[in-house]
Amino acid sequence: MIIVMKSSAKERDIENISEVLSKHGLGVHISNGSAATIIGIIGDKAKLGDVNLELMDGVEKCVPIMHSYKLASRDICPEGRIARVGDQEIGGNALAMMAGPCAVESEDQIMQAALGVKAAGAKFLRGGAYKPRTSPYSFQGMEDEGFKMLRKAADATGLKVVSEVIAADQLDVAAKYCDMFQIGARNMQNFRLLREVGRSKVPVLLKRGISSTIEEWLDAAEYIMSEGNYNVVLCERGIRTFETATRNTLDIAAVPVIKERSCLPVIVDPSHAAGKSAYIAALSMAAVAAGADGLIIEVHPDPKSAMSDAAQQLTPEGYQSLFERIKIVAQAVQRGI
Ligand code: PEP
Ligand code: MN
Repeated sequence: MIIVMKSSAKERDIENISEVLSKHGLGVHISNGSAATIIGIIGDKAKLGDVNLELMDGVEKCVPIMHSYKLASRDICPEGRIARVGDQEIGGNALAMMAGPCAVESEDQIMQAALGVKAAGAKFLRGGAYKPRTSPYSFQGMEDEGFKMLRKAADATGLKVVSEVIAADQLDVAAKYCDMFQIGARNMQNFRLLREVGRSKVPVLLKRGISSTIEEWLDAAEYIMSEGNYNVVLCERGIRTFETATRNTLDIAAVPVIKERSCLPVIVDPSHAAGKSAYIAALSMAAVAAGADGLIIEVHPDPKSAMSDAAQQLTPEGYQSLFERIKIVAQAVQRGI
């Protein structure tokens, strides 16, 4: 449930309500919007017993949140959230541009990728050190050595590191090297992992599960937020449909749906949606036009030799020319880049 305060409500009224909620064992989430202050009640409102919040000073009305997710809903934070990754913001006016190889393969490979994407204008370096591959016989990543190489390349170029984590027991080590944890599509409903990244306080990029509905995806975000980590960014990366011409089907409609239902920023991964480098530009521009808060794109210094996802990775030059085209779309939709 949310409590919408009157515009005339005083600081003291908000404090009184927060005290009553805390006394009854409920969590409080306060959002100071330009139109009104909204107090979100976290927990089972039955704990309030006979307390009628609508009679308290400063209260305009109480409205139930009709979704299973609360903190991730737009009701609780109508202005939308901005995720902060160091000095970078995701969900504000400027698009968050993330790029880098599917997997970290060597020190030279990740450094070349970092230099290339930085020159284009990216602010985040992606690269998998732990690769949850569909087949156990495929390249599984360089693990902690990969994290170290990623960190070194990012520090040399002034980029933020976003990299996938796959297990709760690796988070302490991963936090030394990553600025943002990625939860991959295959782990979107690994609830133990979601709770642990929620406790870690490291910003999280939560990819949509390969066959997940938007509601299941937002419930997954709620697992992270319910542990106190609100720095969550959603990533649409295509879903499985009957269509086989592309690797997955990019659900572009998910972007406005998320904007309507959730307060969280949402970015798009056209690489894993398309599966082919030739389609990346069209999907990227469509995503920005649809209102995405950023893009995460696979870029490899020599895509043909890539140890994973060779067909979908752009060359650094390809990324640079795509970046210039994205700038034009960003300008048309009044977004910075
Ligand atoms: C990735 O980004 O490296 C990846 C494996 O993507 P996804 O989880 O979306 O398949
Ligand atoms: Mn990949």
